Amino acid sequence: MTYKTLIEADRSLLWHPYASMVDPPPVFPVVSATGVRLMLADGRELIDGMASWWCAIHGYNHPALNEAVTTQLKDMAHVMFGGLTHEPAVTLAQKLVEITPRELQTVFFADSGSVSVEVAIKMAIQYWAAKGRPGKQKLLTIRQGYHGDTFGAMAVCDSVTGMHSLFRDVLPEHYFADSPRTRFEDEWSDDDIESLRALAENHHDDIAAVILEPVVQGAGGMWFYNPAYLDKVRQICDQYDLLLVFDEIATGFGRTGKLFACEHSRVSPDIMCLGKALTGGYMTLAATLTSAGVADTISAGGEGVFMHGPTFMANPLACSTALASINLLEQTGWQQRVENIQSQLQAELAPCRQLDNVIDVRVLGAIGVVEVDRPVDMHVVPHWFVERGVWIRPFGRLIYIMPPYMIDPGELTELTDAIYHVASKLSDEKQ
Ligand SMILES: *Cc1c(COP(=O)(O)O)cnc(C)c1O
Repeated sequence: MTYKTLIEADRSLLWHPYASMVDPPPVFPVVSATGVRLMLADGRELIDGMASWWCAIHGYNHPALNEAVTTQLKDMAHVMFGGLTHEPAVTLAQKLVEITPRELQTVFFADSGSVSVEVAIKMAIQYWAAKGRPGKQKLLTIRQGYHGDTFGAMAVCDSVTGMHSLFRDVLPEHYFADSPRTRFEDEWSDDDIESLRALAENHHDDIAAVILEPVVQGAGGMWFYNPAYLDKVRQICDQYDLLLVFDEIATGFGRTGKLFACEHSRVSPDIMCLGKALTGGYMTLAATLTSAGVADTISAGGEGVFMHGPTFMANPLACSTALASINLLEQTGWQQRVENIQSQLQAELAPCRQLDNVIDVRVLGAIGVVEVDRPVDMHVVPHWFVERGVWIRPFGRLIYIMPPYMIDPGELTELTDAIYHVASKLSDEKQ
């Protein structure tokens, strides 16, 4: 197919994420990807600033991950997980339990981040039912959160920034506290926890769990808040008999400068969701980890089992690739790389602050965000980035990057230059 026929066929056939079939935003046919570069069908090369939405932490087409896939493929691509087990699932589970907070001891494999959140919610409800408190079925969360697109997950997303207000009437109603306003690097203020504390105090008899993204709120606003918030939330959960669920689907595997974002505090959740970078961006796989206490209580409850079991649970190809990805992370000095990316992003995005349409610039770990004063036109701006040889996909008022960790300084500069260029072009257009 030629470049043009491919685009035309795509337009008439395919839905893209949060897109229209009638007035679709531009799409760019890609034929291959290697390292930090995407190759387009017309021969152009783009430096990737998105890591395919947090996933491709090692870049694309990595020999070690390719090897894990092909080796596993020779044994088996998939078998059902009901009544069968296999080494890829067992060794990956051992590894996840080893690298996550000590309290987390059991692993449920799911197919996507959203499903791992559904699983976490069901676990929290089943936990309290097993404890003889079936009235505890609501969730308490914070505004500006994002936890996925399926119904249970949607119900704990911010209905405004999460784009789900249309479904309000069919979704279960949960409790939303104000999200913390104290920035990551600023001094903690106790006022920040009052909203969540008040809701917990008034409604704890209905509430099964608090669920939130620790330290970095991703798709709901790319906001980095003070980790002291997590300590306060943990105290409140303990005081009021609430489980604590951390959604580390975006933040896990080094992105914020710690292996998991909760390590910016000393807090362990009772349940943790992982996804996105779990397989290094190769395949869809997610996991819900729980403490032994949560697992034992659910299993001792009236049902005697946990009520969930996806068809593709613990897919061996995905598990093998995930294990290879974690091993690779440990072998490649990720912490130094992320630290270097952070310093460079801080230095190179700072000039954006001078632009009159830039409201905020923030950096944490290998995440850089430039917030402008109005939503970016997604029919136009993607072309500007592609013309400059980079792949950066803004969202609303946010122009942000989270590149693969192996990006070199020169390539990262091309990304930050492109962001400055686009932000200033947006500023000029305003005049
Ligand atoms: C992406 C994301 C999800 C949903 O994961 P999917 O794999 O898209 O279902 C949930 N929570 C957070 C924090 C995410 O970033």
